[in-house]
Amino acid sequence: MYRTHDCGSLRLDDINQNVTLSGWVQKSRNKGFIVWVDLRDRYGITQLIFDEKRSPNNVFEIAQSIGREFVIQIKGLVIKRESKNPEISTGDIEVLVNELNILNESKTPPFTLEDNTDGGEELRMQYRYLDLRRKSVKEKLLFRSKVSMEIRKYLISAGFIDVETPYLIKSTPEGARDFVVPSRMNSGQFYALPQSPQTFKQLLMIGGLDKYFQIVKCFRDEDLRADRQPEFTQIDCEMAFVNQEDVINQFEGLTRHLIKKLKGVNIESFPRMSYEEAMKTYGNDKPDIRFGMLFGELNDLVKDKGFTIFDSEELIAGIAVPDAATYTRKEIDGLIDWVKHPQVGAKGLVWVKCNDDGSYKSSVDKFFSETQLATWAERTGAKIGDLILIISGEIKTTRAQLSALRMELAKRMGLRDPEVFAPLWITDFPLLNWDKANQRYHAIHHPFTAPKQDQLDLLKTDPGGVTANAYDLVLNGNEIGGGSIRIHDQKLQSQIFDLLGFTKEEAQAQFGFLMNAFKYGAPPHGGIAFGLDRLVSILGGDETIRDFIAFPKNNSGRDVMIDAPSKINDSQLKELKLKVGPQKKE
Ligand code: ASP
Repeated sequence: MYRTHDCGSLRLDDINQNVTLSGWVQKSRNKGFIVWVDLRDRYGITQLIFDEKRSPNNVFEIAQSIGREFVIQIKGLVIKRESKNPEISTGDIEVLVNELNILNESKTPPFTLEDNTDGGEELRMQYRYLDLRRKSVKEKLLFRSKVSMEIRKYLISAGFIDVETPYLIKSTPEGARDFVVPSRMNSGQFYALPQSPQTFKQLLMIGGLDKYFQIVKCFRDEDLRADRQPEFTQIDCEMAFVNQEDVINQFEGLTRHLIKKLKGVNIESFPRMSYEEAMKTYGNDKPDIRFGMLFGELNDLVKDKGFTIFDSEELIAGIAVPDAATYTRKEIDGLIDWVKHPQVGAKGLVWVKCNDDGSYKSSVDKFFSETQLATWAERTGAKIGDLILIISGEIKTTRAQLSALRMELAKRMGLRDPEVFAPLWITDFPLLNWDKANQRYHAIHHPFTAPKQDQLDLLKTDPGGVTANAYDLVLNGNEIGGGSIRIHDQKLQSQIFDLLGFTKEEAQAQFGFLMNAFKYGAPPHGGIAFGLDRLVSILGGDETIRDFIAFPKNNSGRDVMIDAPSKINDSQLKELKLKVGPQKKE
């Protein structure tokens, strides 16, 4: 038997017991006549003591030679510890060792395997199996396991069944590029890895399974963006005979359950907001509603007053930064520099101070009177003591820039408290947007999303104005889930493919299986998918999602531990009948 106890379980009650423990040497301290060793496993750390007088000679000798991360097994007696360590659960005891067995030696690890490590990100990823031994990393994976178990428990008890769908499929468009896999047996042909199991889950509804879920890997070949993984995990769900309200209620239930179970927080309400309102008041379709600074649009108040910059712009909008009227010129200049940063890209900021004495002072005093500035304060909800910051420009970019500024200020002011949870449903998304460059529509969600029932006629006359039966769940400024009621009518689906610029033949070749299935009694259905990695990271304290993935890829989509992607050899290429162009020099 390798162990009678794990390294996290011995207490005062166990004093005088003979125990066997196995684990890794976290560190050892050699005092000459005594060696202390911290023995670590998944469950904790137990202090071992090797004593020149009390341990057998040979054991004491070997103890002097064991290094960090050696794997050892010991037998010994649990004794009371003289200087207690309240930091660890076993801190009241130590084990006086009388037998020592080195199970495996270890090279000195390339970085310290403690909470505060000296290892940089790249090094830790290269030796991820060592990084996983660190408590903070391990705890994130334990937390993830707990979250997925709670999800399973909740969904299974709500009548969902867990069904696996294939990975080697054909393109399922979710707006990204496919990862493709060449087929050896069908030369010249390729599978695509699923961007989501979307079409399969719809087919499961047609198959009568009624309520499906799967915690499933999805693959999207997107351009590099911070904190995105090319493979990520979704909680993918679908239900038959439901409308939007039914899906929203079901998944409010799941979200409420998770936040209660894992954070002990009761969510009172799940407010809803239309996409249009979110864009107008937060400049963003995933607003963080834990704090204010809502947008005030100022066009009618500021145009034609002689300030030509505003006169020529499409949108002039501002936010009231609480208690910031006291900002110095230097602080304001700092913010102006920040918005001019290429990632934000604004041309500048107009500012108004709402002074404590009721007066107003602005960067545009030459053009606007205090009475006029007072109307801006009213529009942006600024109180005495606030600072109004204004950006102008084209509608879409101005909103995005002001939203970035709002989030940055909230971060600096500590308004994004990770222990406060504010969910929000965003509804009424547009169904399509017009792609000028390619002269065709794009599906905003995906091509299977149903238009609102009362807008079917509009599809013929003004497709761009049609609202989708789609919804996103936002948590603390992050989209954690999104879904829709689906089209289940073959004619409507084919009309949408038309609008998306597919020829009849293309639609048939790519999605004929689905449209055909719609002809055999497809029930009304809808669903949602949550991003598990992000959800876990928000519940676990808003850190980067990579921390909550056992073996993540870096920002260039590489696994630096196994060194993938990598070349394949010529015989594999030949077998796959693939030719490659000149190889990039490394
Ligand atoms: N398949 C969608 C996605 O991956 C989610 C859904 O519509 O259920 O975003």
